[in-house]
This record gives sequence, structure tokens and C-alpha cells, in this order.
Amino acid sequence: MGNLIESLSRVSGATREVVEIASRALDDIRPRWEELDELAAYNHSKVLEAFRRARVQEGYFWGSTGYGYGDAGREKLDEIYAEVFGTEKALVRGQIVSGTHAIALALYGVLRPGDELLGVTGEPYDTLQGIVGIREGEPGSLSDWGVCYRQVDLGPDGRPDLDAIRVSVGARTKAAFIQRSRGYSWRPPVSVESIGAIVRAVKAANPGTVCIVDNCYGEFVETSEPTEVGADLIAGSLIKNPGGGLAPTGGYLAGRADLVEAAANRLTAPGLGTHVGATAGWGRAFYQGMFLAPHVVAEALKGAVFAARLFELLGLETSPGVREPRTDIIQAVRLGSPEALVAFCQGLQKCSPVDSHVKPEPWPMPGYAHQVIMAAGAFTQGASIELSADGPMREPYVAYLQGGLTKEHVVSGVLSAVGEMRSRGLLTQAWGSITGR
Ligand SMILES: *Cc1c(COP(=O)(O)O)cnc(C)c1O
Repeated sequence: MGNLIESLSRVSGATREVVEIASRALDDIRPRWEELDELAAYNHSKVLEAFRRARVQEGYFWGSTGYGYGDAGREKLDEIYAEVFGTEKALVRGQIVSGTHAIALALYGVLRPGDELLGVTGEPYDTLQGIVGIREGEPGSLSDWGVCYRQVDLGPDGRPDLDAIRVSVGARTKAAFIQRSRGYSWRPPVSVESIGAIVRAVKAANPGTVCIVDNCYGEFVETSEPTEVGADLIAGSLIKNPGGGLAPTGGYLAGRADLVEAAANRLTAPGLGTHVGATAGWGRAFYQGMFLAPHVVAEALKGAVFAARLFELLGLETSPGVREPRTDIIQAVRLGSPEALVAFCQGLQKCSPVDSHVKPEPWPMPGYAHQVIMAAGAFTQGASIELSADGPMREPYVAYLQGGLTKEHVVSGVLSAVGEMRSRGLLTQAWGSITGR
């Protein structure tokens, strides 16, 4: 049978030399995998306890139609999310179309004309720029509604600048916005501990400022969540971490009851709030996905740590590095050339369960200044809790790798990506110094 790498070398077409170096990477990170098993166990018990308290039963999965009045399954799932995130209330809905939509609901729920929104972790994620109105003339953006936006940039070390945050929060600052994940930037993600420090800095300057966290990619990566260190409201996507790879669509918010109610009024209508929204056929997948999420997130992280070590051995810079703490599921690898980025994504795609025969190419994606290449062979369109990779075609040609429902799949994908790069004569320098050939 051989070791894990040898077994996976068959499907990923890894050559002897790739197997050798990957086996070494695996040996090196075994202790990190054990830590991740502990993380999964901790978060699993949190989730299982919430299911037990809610007395989950099969009838909750049947789903409702039409208005969805009195849908006990939907109400219980809201309770489970609230319990897991340690909040008063949560809103979990298939009618929330994405993470961006969930974050928009949080912002539009809280902010009124004349208010100020303060971004405290630098430039917001691409899809949020339209909401804020950083791009001119976006009808319905916050700026169109008379909400102004200011930003505190990250410090030179890429970390939140607490002193600058303290002096920037003013009387009009209704909300402070924190992005936990690195998104598609080289900066380190913001840990839950650091989010706690930001919240304290904001509240010291203005106790009435609402702290909203974009929790995308962060759920279950640590043993606590932003709402446990003072954040008032979090929002995220169900086709990322908390959907466990099973949720086919949807988003969630969790936090202070009044803020969740305000967001629900934006999603539906004032007066309808949280009381409507059919669950149709989604119920079981939402429940089962949440049940699996801590394990799936740990699997994705195991894959990310393996990739970090393997590319490190190949002489490339990775972020986070193998030993650095993690607070999101993204692994960035600085590949250094357009050829390498294309080979990486095409190699990864070859090892997908869906669309393995498709060859991704760089394309001019709307809203981006550069061409982007994406590898995604997912069961759910765009689900980035499933193994995927992408990168903008610009210096320094960074591949952002994330997700993976099983560590086996991430390892196969990464082996295939490395094999593809190797067979195109890339990585040669790094190779010689490692294998001595
Ligand atoms: C994924 C993501 C979002 C939301 O993106 P959607 O594609 O709309 O779900 C927002 N912020 C960050 C940091 C993300 O990773």
C-alpha cells in the first residue's frame, strides 16, 4: 500500500522525485497535523453540544415551502449557529446568495445616512468595494445612501494599527469593519486575539461603535470566534467553512439580537424579519454541513500546511509559513513567474473530482485590473471550502490555494500541481539544491 504520498502519487501522476520530496514534507509536518486533529476535536464538541441542546430531529430537515412560516428546522438552525458563535441570535438562510450579500446585510442593517463606516483592516475585499462605493457611481452603494467611508490602513508589518484606529474612531463612526481573512493579499490574516484588541481600541474611543467582522474563511480555524472576543456582528458564506462542503448555497450572520434583526429586515422586509424564508430542500445539507464543518476545515488546513512545507522545501516563499499561526484557510505561495502560476493551476485542476479534463486559462475577470487564473473542480459552483486555487497574473505571481474536503484531495492536487510545474521545466533551481541532482 505504501505511505499516503505513494498511494496518492498514482492519481496525481507524481514521479519518483516528487514522491521523495513530498514524503519528506509530510514527515516534517506530522506534528502539525496532530495539532489540527485537536483543533477539530475541540470545535466538533462545540458543534455537537449545540446540536444536542437544540434536540435536533429528522423533521427539521424536511423543509418548508412558500413563506416558510413556522419552520422549526430553520429556527433551530439559527439557534445552533448562535450557540456555536456564542451570540444572542443568528440568521442562516439559503436566500442569502453569498458572503458578500451577508456582509452587505450587516452593513445596511446598521448604517444610516450621515453615519460613517470605518474600515480598520485596510483595503476591503474586492467584492466589498462596490458596497462601500469605493468604485464611483455604483447605484445603491453605501456612499450613494449618504454613508461615508474612511479607512485605517494596516501597519507596515501588515498588522492592524491600533494607535491609528484609536484616534480615527469618532462620534460619527457608527460601525468599524474588520476583515479576518487575508483575502487575496499577501498580508497576514487577523487572528481572533487581534480582533479582540481592535474591538477594545474601537470601544475605548466610542463605546457606541458597532464592530462588524467579515468572518469569511475564518470559521473553526481557531478555538474561538470573533463574537467571543467582543465583535458585535459577524457574517460569512455557507459555501465556505461553516457549510462543511455540503451546503449548496447560502450565508449567515450572528451577533447582537438587535443587529441580526436589523439585517433580517434588510433581507426580507421590516415586519417580516427572521420569521419567513422557506428552507425548501436545503435543510439537511445545512445541518449536516455545520456538523462536518470543524472536521472539513481541519482537513483543508492539513492540506495547506503540507503545501506550505512542500513549497518551502522547493525554495519558494509561502504565507503563512509552516510554523506560523493560522486564522483562515488560505495558503499563499509566491511562484514568481506567469508560467509557474499557470502550470500550478492547470496541474491542480487535473486532480479535481469535477471538470478534471478542463484546462484553466487566465482571463480578464470583471472588476479586476489584471487577468486572473482559477482552478476549481468543485461539486458546488464557486465553493472555496472545496479545493481551489487562483491568482492574479501580475508580479510576484502568487497562487492562493484554499479548501479541500479531505486532506487526501489537497495532497493529490498539490502533487499534481508540482508535477506539472516540474514537467514544464519550472522549479529547476530549487530542485537541484534539494535533491542534489
Ligand atoms: C469570500 C470572501 C468574501 C465574500 O465573497 P463571496 O464570494 O461573495 O462569498 C468576503 N470577504 C472575504 C475575505 C472572502 O474571502
